[in-house]
Amino acid sequence: MTIQQPSLPFSQDALEPYISARTLEFHYGKHHQSYVEKTNQLMGETALKNLSLEEIIKETANQPNQQTLFNNAAQVWNHNFFWNSLKPGGGGKPSGLVAERIERDLGGYQNFVKEFKTTALGQFGSGWAWLVLQGTELAITKTANAELPLKNDLIPLLTVDVWEHSYYLDYQNRRADYLQAVIDHLINWEFVNENLNKHIY
Ligand code: MN
Repeated sequence: MTIQQPSLPFSQDALEPYISARTLEFHYGKHHQSYVEKTNQLMGETALKNLSLEEIIKETANQPNQQTLFNNAAQVWNHNFFWNSLKPGGGGKPSGLVAERIERDLGGYQNFVKEFKTTALGQFGSGWAWLVLQGTELAITKTANAELPLKNDLIPLLTVDVWEHSYYLDYQNRRADYLQAVIDHLINWEFVNENLNKHIY
């Protein structure tokens, strides 16, 4: 099967001024696309070529001789999930189930913001910040490079890319300003609630 790059769920300039069209031109159009191309190329060379993206990730996780394929496939998955974690006019305090669970599990919205930022800033070098479901409780975590929570049996609810390519054109080295803008203006809480509702009964 050929892995496809899904369309962006918004237009390239829809996240302005917080994430510029120029950033998305490179981030979606070059970085994400190149992970898709590389995944397809590497899959074609292995017995994994009929698997879905999730299956490839599971099959190649923790296999040193499949590290490059894992990295590229996981980065495809991470970016697919990241674009859905954002929306124009998003951010700020959530409502619905995730709002209740942030109160119950994370000590309220202000504490969520603080902990999410601290975690995302604490990722040394490239990686991802995540809101996940750990068992039945919300938790905030980070992963390095292409790593993803699925590997540790955590259910991802929201992610923010903290690779420099996601903010350097707009914020240069100011990762904290990028994170604040995403938290205040771009988080797609409806997507988070959809993910949570699939796993909370
Ligand atoms: Mn990225």
